Amino acid sequence: MEIKKGISVSPGVVIGTALVLDAEDLLIPKRLIPPEQVPAEVKRLEDAITAAATELARLRDAVTAEHGRDIGSIFDFHLALLHDKALVGQFFVEIKDRHTTAEYAVSVVMRKYSSTVSAIKDKYLSERVKDIHDIEKRVLRLLIGQKHEDLGHLTQDVVVIAHDLLPSQTAALDRKHVRGFATDVGGRTSHTAIVARAMGIPAVVGLGNITSEVSGGDVVIIDGTRGVVIVNPDLEQLEEHKEAGRKHNEAERQLRTLSNLPARTLDGHEVSLMANIEFPEDITDAELHGAQGIGLYRTEFLYLASEHEPSEEDHYASYADALRRLKGRPLVIRTLDLGADKYTQAKALNPERNPFLGDRSIRMCLHDIPMFKRQLRAIMRASVLGDVRIMFPMICTLMELRQAKMVLNDVMEELEDEGIPFRRDIPTGMMVEVPSAALMADQFAKEVNFFSIGTNDLIQYTLAVDRTNERVAGLFCPAHPSVLKLVRDVIRAGRRNSISVSICGEMAGDPLYTLLLLGLELNIFSMNAPDVPEVKKIIRSTTMEHARHVARRVMSFDSERQVMHFLREETRKIIPEAF
Ligand code: PEP
Ligand code: MG
Repeated sequence: MEIKKGISVSPGVVIGTALVLDAEDLLIPKRLIPPEQVPAEVKRLEDAITAAATELARLRDAVTAEHGRDIGSIFDFHLALLHDKALVGQFFVEIKDRHTTAEYAVSVVMRKYSSTVSAIKDKYLSERVKDIHDIEKRVLRLLIGQKHEDLGHLTQDVVVIAHDLLPSQTAALDRKHVRGFATDVGGRTSHTAIVARAMGIPAVVGLGNITSEVSGGDVVIIDGTRGVVIVNPDLEQLEEHKEAGRKHNEAERQLRTLSNLPARTLDGHEVSLMANIEFPEDITDAELHGAQGIGLYRTEFLYLASEHEPSEEDHYASYADALRRLKGRPLVIRTLDLGADKYTQAKALNPERNPFLGDRSIRMCLHDIPMFKRQLRAIMRASVLGDVRIMFPMICTLMELRQAKMVLNDVMEELEDEGIPFRRDIPTGMMVEVPSAALMADQFAKEVNFFSIGTNDLIQYTLAVDRTNERVAGLFCPAHPSVLKLVRDVIRAGRRNSISVSICGEMAGDPLYTLLLLGLELNIFSMNAPDVPEVKKIIRSTTMEHARHVARRVMSFDSERQVMHFLREETRKIIPEAF
């Protein structure tokens, strides 16, 4: 029962049945099955082959209709392979005679076949090796897991094992039945990590090659607190982790009893704790955890969850739904932050070489004004239904901010001409998530009503660390003094210019930084809903005097290790069981 160590990104323990996604380049482990399971395994393989043939025939017909018979016939070779009795027969021989899993049978036979073919020095045949891999992957994908589309309609609880989860996949997840995540790649602020924390389910990322070590149906323990994954655990491991899970759930339950209490320090200083959401339905959970409103609504998920480009009405329906649920509490709608990790580069006609430095977020919106206007019109129409605030992401230059505000003004004029009501003085803010904006915060503050610091991107761009890359995850650190200086200065610039400042990056929900941020005079924290109770507990257990002292000391340190060590010690002084 191998214990795999990864990066712990969402706490808690779950024991569940694996659903493996992304069969690409999979190394299938050799696993034997008991003899009585052979007929079921044979049937599973027959079904997968039939399904693969149906998919291929459909694909061939669609391609032929669009591009002609010549191109469509490429798939005839694939189909011929699947109908080749000699080849397919060997799969079944493996299962029946050697008692291997269907996956292993397909994998060994196809690999043997492809090496035989590639040994023949013939240009046509060497090209066919790719087709053989293609077929292998298709059948394996059908065997190993359910396809992406099926993620929305699970019938039983699963833990999802994937190379990485595309935002479109997490958007389509059946949140009722997914109990945990484990992925090959990713870091603390990668999208999978954020979604897991928002869902309050355990997750471990950056495991290297977990997808090749787990087969669909395996029992897996995901210990998100310690950052480990155990495949096919023994009895002792099962018992130990069941107990750890029980303890975690009990601690969570205790924390939730704080949900109706204010986030007020012992000396009476009160701050706002808000939640980050991706869909209006997330508001129920935010309320349950005691969030006072929504400090970040990641609206791009409307795009990512949908097959077609959302219309103005689709946007409006979502915003109206969110406001109905909020009953007067604030909703900060961030305009589309598509691109980089929140856009399937695979879908792009010309994938970018450096997507995080590319056409993402506000840049993409300013390159596609009709798309941007559709969203802005919907936000403005919804502005009369509740406390709506609008926020532009990834602002780097004053020009960008002014352009975005100009488009917003155009939209207001259009609505006025059409006689559609809206709130002209809607609070308009920006995310401070690139160093250029943080360094110019004083100038920006004169042109917006509020700032929200996006520490996930701010850290990435300040420290030159890809937030989704597990290889440099150790370098991604909110405690780096350069990041802290930028955060402090943005908060100060906000105060000098009398505009409110919040933090909506993951740092706001990390209890290690609560004392520091409080001491830096941050008034609004926006985080994943499950983080609210613990942050509140720290705030309610300290005084502003203590928090300010902590902040002063921290700002005098020159290394992130010193910062983290000191913060851990100071937090333990007020909550001994913390961390
Ligand atoms: C951030 O960058 O900190 C942020 C909150 O935005 P996102 O994680 O959606 O990029
Ligand atoms: Mg961001």
